[in-house]
Amino acid sequence: MWDVQNIQIQRLNSALWNNTAVDVLRLDQLHPVVSGNKWFKLKYYLQDAIALQKNTIATFGGPHSNHIVATAFAGKEAGLHTVGIIRGEAPAIYSATLLDAAAYGMRLYFVSRESYRNKTNIMAQLNEPSWYWVNEGGAGKPGADGAMEILKNKDTGSYTHIACACGTGTTLAGLVQAADERQVCIGVSALKGFTELREQVMELVPVAHQDKRVEVMHDYHFGGYAKHPPELIHWMNELWRLEQLPTDIVYTSKLCFAVHDLLAKGYFEKGAKILIIHSGGLQGNRSLPEGTLEFL
Ligand SMILES: *Cc1c(COP(=O)(O)O)cnc(C)c1O
Repeated sequence: MWDVQNIQIQRLNSALWNNTAVDVLRLDQLHPVVSGNKWFKLKYYLQDAIALQKNTIATFGGPHSNHIVATAFAGKEAGLHTVGIIRGEAPAIYSATLLDAAAYGMRLYFVSRESYRNKTNIMAQLNEPSWYWVNEGGAGKPGADGAMEILKNKDTGSYTHIACACGTGTTLAGLVQAADERQVCIGVSALKGFTELREQVMELVPVAHQDKRVEVMHDYHFGGYAKHPPELIHWMNELWRLEQLPTDIVYTSKLCFAVHDLLAKGYFEKGAKILIIHSGGLQGNRSLPEGTLEFL
């Protein structure tokens, strides 16, 4: 059902890209629900948990979190129990994401938004020695090491630029490590005003790779994390109509818009060949009212 062999490179052909070669690495094709970068980011966390003889993976996320559902799935595949600490009170009706996570066997604990902020406190209170804790979003060094492998399944040496969406920047850190010296890695922040992003990425990049070329963009958040104004929805439907490219409301739609806008503004030199990393997340679109998107 899921296989890295499913991941294709799609050439974008419409007039949106200013006659520039733009391809998309479709990590969303890995699996219908557990798509994208989260699965890569979990790989070394799971290995570490098994090496330490833990029987349960525990982690944090919101009710539509791609990371929560990916952890539930990947944990099950690895033969580990999973626990999800979910932000906010237990809802009367579970989101599609939480239903999937529960179906993969994840035990869900709901904590108030206020308590959720203090993760150290939650971990201390639960204090289960057989549990292995994974950072929210799979952030951190093992996550970045896993993300390095995103570029390994395809021949990506001919691209001049590799662009990805950023939350914590862990995926970008992995891509920077995996890229070669001539390639420029571009991270498009999904958060508003996350000015420490570049620094956070560089902390995860080994010294030997720190002079690689990295650009971070802060102006494509469309109002903030998970904000999806009508112009973003319109853009997503247009991308679908012109390219048959499905994107998610939190990350990849904003990334594609950034590349489109930067091309229109002449940001890229002549001869640029751009690879957009489609990091998945389509399952999160199920939080939208039916009919909002022309695809799903
Ligand atoms: C989590 C996520 C990201 C951001 O990844 P980071 O490594 O935290 O920067 C990007 N795209 C999608 C679809 C995600 O789910």
